[in-house]
Amino acid sequence: MQGRVVLITGAARGIGLATAEAFAASGATVAIGDIDGDLASRSAAALAARTDATVVGVRVDVTDRESFAGFFAEAETLVGAADILINNAGIMPTGYFVDESPGLTDRQIDINVRGVTNGSRLAATRFLERGTGHIVNIASVAAITAEAGLATYCGTKHFVLGFTEALRRELHPHGVGVTVVLPGFINTELSAGTVVPRWAHALACREPEDVAAGIVAAVRADSSRVTVPASLGLLIKSMALLPER
Ligand code: NAD
Repeated sequence: MQGRVVLITGAARGIGLATAEAFAASGATVAIGDIDGDLASRSAAALAARTDATVVGVRVDVTDRESFAGFFAEAETLVGAADILINNAGIMPTGYFVDESPGLTDRQIDINVRGVTNGSRLAATRFLERGTGHIVNIASVAAITAEAGLATYCGTKHFVLGFTEALRRELHPHGVGVTVVLPGFINTELSAGTVVPRWAHALACREPEDVAAGIVAAVRADSSRVTVPASLGLLIKSMALLPER
């Protein structure tokens, strides 16, 4: 990964930060983008100190096309043109759809769906021009399951899976890698606020570093693929955050 420039959204903490660390450790230059600009800067400084890599923190709101374009532009000025984009920013509020405010439904669609299409368009345009590059979209095992208490979230992640696979077919023949990742239940702030699912204990809550290692391996191999947890059979059989309503 030496000399490659990696842009990661929602990377001030959680899976994004672990992914930033894995790329930095493999010699890449990393731009951490997050809506929490202060935390992005602090996380970048701490990571740079830990790894000796060049890491910068930039504020970005992935729902805003101008802000996302600004992330690409600022990163290019600071560390060079992007070679890899990881669309990782996402939110997962838990609750029955009928109790969810329209605003919260829209917010999930804005971040989990529009954030991914905004970033993919910006990256695809640039990468196609150069005939190289890699886009990684973080979906979830919720992209292939349907859980009570996560209707909107599941819908957004089903979108990310279908969208990314179609985009892979469009871009891969032209030298641009496209990968979708489907993590299971991962131990981060996002999942900490939710009802602990029955299957979490059986899975022993995998760590963000597991996901990060999978992403680096996929990009390094330049393979576009769908990644599912090994214990998927278990997940499909018993996954439910809330009882069926
Ligand atoms: P997290 O809550 O720990 O981190 C998400 C980051 O995204 C935060 O730093 C937040 O500030 C940032 N963010 C939120 N809105 C943003 C916006 N509009 N623009 C830019 N940044 C924004 O979450 P996580 O657990 O690390 O999840 C990362 C991704 O992995 C998400 O897409 C999530 O859906 C997916 N995922 C997580 C799990 C899990 O169990 N944690 C499982 C499967 C998939």
